[in-house]
Amino acid sequence: MEKDTTSKPEGQDTTPAAALGAKRGRWAFMHSSAAAASPQVWRSRISWRIALTVFATLLFVQGAVLLFTIRHYESERLDSLRALANAGIAGALNHDAGKAAPIGAGEAEHLLSNTEIIGISVFGEDAKPLQQFGEKPALAPAGKADIAAAVRSADGMNYEVMFTPHDHGVPYYIVARVDSSAVERQISEQIRKTVTILLLMSGFVTAVMMLALGQWLLEPIMLLRTNLLNAAKNPEKPEIFRMKRETRDEIGIAIRIANDLIRQNANNLKRLRSQAEDKIHKLAYFDALTGLPNRTYFLEKLDDHIRHKVVEEDRRIAVMSVDLDHFKDINDTMGHEFGDKLLEAIGRRLVKALPEDSVISRASADEFTLMVVLKPEYPDSSILVDRIFHAMTEPVSILQERFQVRVSIGVAHCPDDGMEARQILKNADIALNRAKEEGRDTVRYYSQDFDLAVQQRFQLLRDLRSALDENQLQLHFHPQFDLRTGQLIGAEALLRWWLPDNSREGGYFVSPAEFIPVAEQSGLIVPIGQWVLKTACAANKKWQEQGIAPFRIAVNISGVQFHKADIVTLVADVLKDTKLDPKYLELEVTESVFMENMQTTIDILNQLHRQGVELAVDDFGTGYSSLSYLRQFPIDRLKIDQSFIRNALVNPDDRMITKTIISLGHSLGLKVIAEGVETNDHENFLKEEGCDEVQGFKYTKPLNMDKFVEFVVNHNREFAKKTKFAVVDEKKA
Ligand code: C2E
Ligand code: MG
Ligand code: MG
Repeated sequence: MEKDTTSKPEGQDTTPAAALGAKRGRWAFMHSSAAAASPQVWRSRISWRIALTVFATLLFVQGAVLLFTIRHYESERLDSLRALANAGIAGALNHDAGKAAPIGAGEAEHLLSNTEIIGISVFGEDAKPLQQFGEKPALAPAGKADIAAAVRSADGMNYEVMFTPHDHGVPYYIVARVDSSAVERQISEQIRKTVTILLLMSGFVTAVMMLALGQWLLEPIMLLRTNLLNAAKNPEKPEIFRMKRETRDEIGIAIRIANDLIRQNANNLKRLRSQAEDKIHKLAYFDALTGLPNRTYFLEKLDDHIRHKVVEEDRRIAVMSVDLDHFKDINDTMGHEFGDKLLEAIGRRLVKALPEDSVISRASADEFTLMVVLKPEYPDSSILVDRIFHAMTEPVSILQERFQVRVSIGVAHCPDDGMEARQILKNADIALNRAKEEGRDTVRYYSQDFDLAVQQRFQLLRDLRSALDENQLQLHFHPQFDLRTGQLIGAEALLRWWLPDNSREGGYFVSPAEFIPVAEQSGLIVPIGQWVLKTACAANKKWQEQGIAPFRIAVNISGVQFHKADIVTLVADVLKDTKLDPKYLELEVTESVFMENMQTTIDILNQLHRQGVELAVDDFGTGYSSLSYLRQFPIDRLKIDQSFIRNALVNPDDRMITKTIISLGHSLGLKVIAEGVETNDHENFLKEEGCDEVQGFKYTKPLNMDKFVEFVVNHNREFAKKTKFAVVDEKKA
């Protein structure tokens, strides 16, 4: 509906002037003034119907009255003509004249010229015509009937009356023709006057009645109709009008009730709508678990901040992505209820740690995004980052468990790292990924080099897809020794990717640390892992067949392979195909793999163990070491992470950890192997602590197949020489 800006709803001033100014009458009646309502009355159909009915009824009644009065008037006029004729004839009758001429010619002439009589016929009692003067009347006596008659001509111009012998006491019938044209004129004059008066009266009565109806009936009904229409068109904010003079009659009460209902309905609708809006807003913008805003809200708010704080006020915004380290593992081992509670607790801590006007949202399962407008009190985001780390130092207590939470943080700034909300958030995420890749529990600030790194990663993934088909993958082998005797007891198979390029060398090795995560994320690790296992087992079998003293080959199994592919069947198939004795195969699995789906993991490990293969925990000491779980797993070996060995001689903590792992392993009946042994000092320290086995650059770097075989043969030869034990290869390779 076209909104009438000049019309004033209830409660506001509704002056007639305003009403007249309202859109040319269409909505004018909405104003509670009779002046404005009256023109509307004439437009209403019902008004016209009533008016016409009243008018027609009045006309009909008055018409009937008129008809009666005119007839009466006419007969009066004719009667007087008759009397006139009667008198004239009576005066002209000559009682003494002969029977043939009762009216003298002179008297007749006198009558014709001085009265309205224009013709006279005289008949005898036998109806025989006796005399005739002037115009001849059409009326004549019929036989002997003594009747008086009168007749008017069709045009009403003359009137003929017949006098019988009885009328004048003479034996004649006398017919007089009288000029009645005057009567005719008088009658039409009379009719004209009366009709005019009647019309005026009817019109006046109708108009008065219409005004009264308009005021008391139509105007209120129109107002009610308008209010109802307005309510139908805009139920939440209807324009409601009130009568200027409110009446206490039936219609006045009806209007008040209707207005109350419309208002009530509007209020209800408004309330319902605002409730629904609140709910939709909550669903659309807030996370149900933590009650924090979600990513959508965050992006909108960031947009807003960029426009107002950065562009207008020239401020800087820090955007941070915070991710709980190993949340998935926590969720899987401790249960979802625990995970939920943990997220809530972290959300609360973040809110507490950051300035009040920060926006803290939960962006995805275990990722929080934060934005803080930097101020003189905290001009640098590193202060905020410290606060976050500090907030996480105290372990979280949930369901009677105390839990140490670690987070990784990625930071990007606006305007430094972009002026577009999504871009800045993406950059913070890139920085976060960096932080996670680089050891977690740390922070990284976005730098443009990261973008390049991301692109390189995509390129890497494209290249990796073809690497398998194009035989660019190969295995290198890193020998393992018995620390006490120095005997070669195994080798770890390490994947190498030779990526050809246009350089002088014809290509370069891509580090597994670089491409294994990409392979894991893309799922390519599954076929690659199959290839590694098959190749490693086949190589080991071949060496044994070549007569080299048998040793076990250790193959790294990634978490993705362990949980997403059927590792049990794969191992069984490979062992069957290569005919390698299972005891010469060891699978290295990292700690985090153990933490995921504990029960399934135990089942899988048991099945593998039953096949006869050995199991080692790789990089031991770096994960979420809840050491108590170790007992439940059917494992044979702990492999101390090289970082501890590297630092054992300079850092007392690492020294302590190494010692503890060794004694813990032994107390559980496990072998302990140390990797990253680079120096004599490392070796001596491990010997002192009673470590069983070693692997490291001190002995050799990982070697390609040919060099490795050469190394093994030499080593075994030397070993045989050094010891009296003959661990001699049966045949020369
Ligand atoms: P990892 O299983 O802990 O392997 C040991 C890594 O430490 C190897 O690096 C090895 O060359 C290196 N290393 C051993 N001793 C020393 C030492 O004394 N000094 C130094 N500086 N380094 C030493 P590499 O070959 O780069 O492998 C890195 C990681 O890549 C491996 O860590 C493993 O997690 C992964 N990886 C390698 N091959 C495979 C594979 O076939 N499958 C899977 N799933 N992961 C693999
Ligand atoms: Mg390993
Ligand atoms: Mg390792």
